[in-house]
Amino acid sequence: MTRQEMMHKAFGIVSSRRQKAITLADQRLAAVQKDLPELTQLEQQRALAGLRAAQLSASGAERAQIDAALAEASACDAKRDMLLRENGIDPASLAPEFTCPICKDTGRVSSGPCECVLALVREMCQKEVNESSPLSLCSFSTFDLNKYPDRYVPELGLSARQHMEDIFHYCKDYAEQFTLKNPNLYLYGYAGLGKTHLALAIANTVLHKGFNVVYISAQNAFDAMEKEHFRNEEANDTLATLCDAQLLILDDLGTEYLTPYVSSCLYSLVNTRMCRCLPTIYTSNIVLDADLQRRYTEKIVSRLLGNCECLNFCGDDVRLMDK
Ligand SMILES: [Zn+2]
Repeated sequence: MTRQEMMHKAFGIVSSRRQKAITLADQRLAAVQKDLPELTQLEQQRALAGLRAAQLSASGAERAQIDAALAEASACDAKRDMLLRENGIDPASLAPEFTCPICKDTGRVSSGPCECVLALVREMCQKEVNESSPLSLCSFSTFDLNKYPDRYVPELGLSARQHMEDIFHYCKDYAEQFTLKNPNLYLYGYAGLGKTHLALAIANTVLHKGFNVVYISAQNAFDAMEKEHFRNEEANDTLATLCDAQLLILDDLGTEYLTPYVSSCLYSLVNTRMCRCLPTIYTSNIVLDADLQRRYTEKIVSRLLGNCECLNFCGDDVRLMDK
């Protein structure tokens, strides 16, 4: 689902909440009116006084006349509230109970969409992420550093476990203190070393902070773009969604089937996000710069790795050790 579709769906949800709140309030009022015929009378009187005030004001009548009509309306309100209280009914209980008191379930505030709409969009986005990956299993708290070997690695100057501990804390800080000024990350290393786990843990944390996060595997992303291309759709929605995300996580770069069209999409994606200064996290099994350039050309790779922290995952295959 594109962000636009999610917004559309969110407004639909909010609007049906509003309809439901109003219908329920009408039903509550109708039930009370049945027992209190006086209430109906007062409400009619109140409506007429309000209408008169508006008409007087529109026809440029004297202030005193308008004020008299307004005073009659508020006197009706006061009588109505008293009548309700005398019968043991809280007047507030007859007003619609909106889910969002800020926008009264209209979904809009003066500055644009209300926070309740944005929250629904985030929920949908998170759901999509969840459906494509075991997000709930991938938090920082389920990342097990004990799976990495403790023996000293001369090239690192420390053990793989200590090295991964540094990476773990770097990623955790990256997520917890996330802003749009965060650098890009290139998480690389052989399969099964926990790159996707940490990338998803970051996605989860940053989503909860309220950012628009998109997590997608490179294979799924470029497959979708190819399909849109062959259906001859005017807009490449997938590419647009990936370009717009406040944080994009492109998992397993290098596993996609590379065609000239896919290359051009990757270039657009990397270049657009670079121009918009939006952070991107890549995970990849491609360990060497030279291999990356051979696959994607120097032009793409220089942009991809620009303003990028490269984190080298090492150790034995964590998934094999699970078994
Ligand atoms: Zn709202």
